[in-house]
Amino acid sequence: MTTNEGAAGEADWRRATELIRTADTLALACHVSPDGDALGSMLGLGLALTSAAAGAGKNVVASFGDRVFAVPRLLRFLPGQHLLVEPSAYPAEPDVMITFDASTMERLGLLAPHAGKARELIVIDHHVSNTRFGTVHLVDPAAASTTMVVERLIHRLGLPLDRDVATCLYAGLVTDTGSFRHSITTPAAHAMAGRLLATGLRPEEIARELWDRSPFAYLRVLGAALGRATLEPDAAGGLGLVWTYVSRADRAAEGLPYDEVEGVIDVVRRIDEAEVAVVLKEDDEGGWNVSTRSKGAVDMARVCAELGGGGHPRAAGFSSALSVEDTIAVLRPLLAAEGTRS
Ligand code: AMP
Ligand code: MN
Ligand code: MN
Repeated sequence: MTTNEGAAGEADWRRATELIRTADTLALACHVSPDGDALGSMLGLGLALTSAAAGAGKNVVASFGDRVFAVPRLLRFLPGQHLLVEPSAYPAEPDVMITFDASTMERLGLLAPHAGKARELIVIDHHVSNTRFGTVHLVDPAAASTTMVVERLIHRLGLPLDRDVATCLYAGLVTDTGSFRHSITTPAAHAMAGRLLATGLRPEEIARELWDRSPFAYLRVLGAALGRATLEPDAAGGLGLVWTYVSRADRAAEGLPYDEVEGVIDVVRRIDEAEVAVVLKEDDEGGWNVSTRSKGAVDMARVCAELGGGGHPRAAGFSSALSVEDTIAVLRPLLAAEGTRS
């Protein structure tokens, strides 16, 4: 294995490229509630595979297993949306299926049974916690984003990296590095950004779509959430916790869709007095999705794994069927244990 091939072994890379080259149809799937890295890595590879310039002309279907299938508003600018099909139209027993940015089979939601029945399952990911649930694994925990692994695969397949493909890959790179601010921002991440920018993509337009626009209703819902933010200085072994929530009633009052509240955590996590930030977000069905962030001293991937979720040490999440108060009550002892460990 050479250093620039990442953690996957040469045998896996060979097997993956062989499977993709010989397949007529490829079924792609990313994790539920897709973020820029999940959708960007899937659509980026999908576009490269269907490119006429490649002469490959693969049949590609792409999807994600949410019960209510809708691309989050802030990701609708990504090229390649025509490749998407609803989970109900997804092949039941795919010949070759490829998953993106999903650390476990469960993260595929409704598409998990399809993955279980696939003849070959290529898992492309960068989570340390990846359970290697496929038949071939391109998993590189040192990669800042899944799109970094996909760029390498596109290169190895000899497929062209045009501006549309690059836009998808760049969206994943900037999402997962927090615009090159997070600790995972390696020289390799910047080098890849340079290659992508060289295709002529528009970084200012991508940044605006991802982070710098919202309907007015967002200000009202954000204001309500920030108004009830709670600081617990003694939590997490004295390192501090700040938390708040956004209920579906908050959103209904302003007519704000669920996918507009993803950025609330980025405001809450900035405060100095808390190592850990938590935002609970209630979806339209009444389930709570919990976003958690730490500044590095507390391993949130481990805390969230205890609660059936997962993620990265500084950015992780889980779902909760409990009330807001009960969810925080379950979190406190786990944070205390992790806070004193550090
Ligand atoms: P989010 O707070 O939604 O931006 O999620 C942060 C990170 O946590 C994601 O990149 C995922 O790696 C992970 N994550 C979030 N929710 C879950 C979940 N329910 N199960 C496993 N991992 C999750
Ligand atoms: Mn993701
Ligand atoms: Mn990712």
